[in-house]
Formats: sequence, C-alpha cells, structure tokens
Amino acid sequence: MTYDYDEQNIFAKILRGEIPNTTVKESEHALAFKDIAPQAPHHVVVIPKGPYVTADHFATEASDDEIADFWRTFGSICRELGVTPDQGAGYRLIANAGSDSGQEVPHFHMHILAGRPLGPMLNS
Ligand code: 5GP
Repeated sequence: MTYDYDEQNIFAKILRGEIPNTTVKESEHALAFKDIAPQAPHHVVVIPKGPYVTADHFATEASDDEIADFWRTFGSICRELGVTPDQGAGYRLIANAGSDSGQEVPHFHMHILAGRPLGPMLNS
C-alpha cells in the first residue's frame, strides 16, 4: 500500500480539534459531523479517526475493530436521523476516492445524504 497521509488535511485538523465541527456522533474509532456545505437537508460526513486516505485504504489496512466501529456508527446515525427505508424515505451513501471522483479531502469519509429526492446517481 503506497498511500501517503497528509496530516494537514481539513479532517485531520477537525480530529485534532484545530477546526470546529458540528458533531453528530463520536465513537472510539469514528467521528461524524455535519458537512459545512450541505447538499441535502441531512448531509453528514462520517470519518474514521485513523489516518486513512480512501475507502480501499481503510478496508485494506484498518483493524477489524476500527472497521466494525465505523460501520456500526454509520448505522446508528442513519437510524437516529430516521432516514433508513424502514422508517423513512432512504438516503444515499457516497465515498469519493481519488481524482476521477473529485475527492477534495484526502481523509477517507462517507457522505450520508438524505431528506429530499436525490435524483440520478450521476450527473454525467
Ligand atoms: P469530498 O469532495 O472529498 O468527497 O468531500 C469533502 C467534503 O468536505 C465536502 O462536502 C465539503 O463541503 C466538506 N468540507 C470541507 N471543509 C470542511 C470543513 O471545514 N468542515 C466541514 N464540516 N466540512 C467540510
């Protein structure tokens, strides 16, 4: 694995408390907060606390505890937002990775988007 983690990325600064955030949920290995530029009524970003650049990096190198904690945190947020299809109208989960995806922040994160019809998966 040849990912270089940039310790100065914005989410690393949020994790170190150098930049404020509106926390939605925090667990041992994960932090979830509101996106600063929401694209939907609910727009939550979920990140692992460890230094992972992309989803594949996280899936390959994170410990089982980190991976389980991350997904459990994601699941509980969806339930608490009331957006799971069994209790609401659903959500979209997005994880950009690398240049073709338009990933802006090089710390693995998942976007949870919900609260309105989200349209087609891709615009182009
Ligand atoms: P990406 O394009 O990398 O998938 O998503 C990065 C996301 O981070 C964007 O949706 C952007 O609005 C969000 N973002 C960038 N800077 C900040 C910040 O300082 N605070 C928060 N809460 N979100 C940020």
